[in-house]
Amino acid sequence: MNITPANTDVFIATQYKGIYMSKSKSWPAINIDLPKGKIKVAVSACLLGEKTRYDGEHKSDQFIKDALGEVFNLVSICPEVEFGFGVPREPLQLVGDPQSPRLITRESKKDYTEIMVRWAKNRALALKQEGIKGFILKSNSPTCGIRQVKIYDQNGNAVKKGVGLFVLVLKKYFPFAPMENEKRIHNDKIYQEFIKEITNYLTSEKR
Ligand code: SF4
Repeated sequence: MNITPANTDVFIATQYKGIYMSKSKSWPAINIDLPKGKIKVAVSACLLGEKTRYDGEHKSDQFIKDALGEVFNLVSICPEVEFGFGVPREPLQLVGDPQSPRLITRESKKDYTEIMVRWAKNRALALKQEGIKGFILKSNSPTCGIRQVKIYDQNGNAVKKGVGLFVLVLKKYFPFAPMENEKRIHNDKIYQEFIKEITNYLTSEKR
């Protein structure tokens, strides 16, 4: 079966239905003209199994690596490690106003906001030049989180929710690019929607 962008969603719906029910580790074969394996989607490095987290661990996600890896060219990104924080490192947290939060180390209270924003602008530009068309980013991260990231007050209480600092910058450079986190993308409907949005995004870029 040859799939065109116009009927991609139908194909995905039929081919991927049941993945989560069966928890199968062998993903269905993909035959897709998106073109398969050429569209670049940036993925948080820890989800791809890289030990980039503050505690030296990863959050490897088999579905992202196998099923999404079949369709897309997955490009690993880790804002914190690329920025220059080591592994392991002191965890960071967001503090203050959700619209413009501060990025601060949890214990030593060092503020990295301005320098991270500057770095993130350059990284976003580089990702644009590299031809990234979508993002799958780690949930709950003060840099990678796309939604519902805890934001603390000065007393260390999690009082609000917002978006990771890297993503705040990224959204300015990629206002229409599909972005999801690893929790939501495991939902069949959201996964299909993500594929559809990528297809629409590619079409809109050609206009
Ligand atoms: S959540 Fe983002 S910043 Fe943290 S380890 Fe994963 S890729 Fe790196």
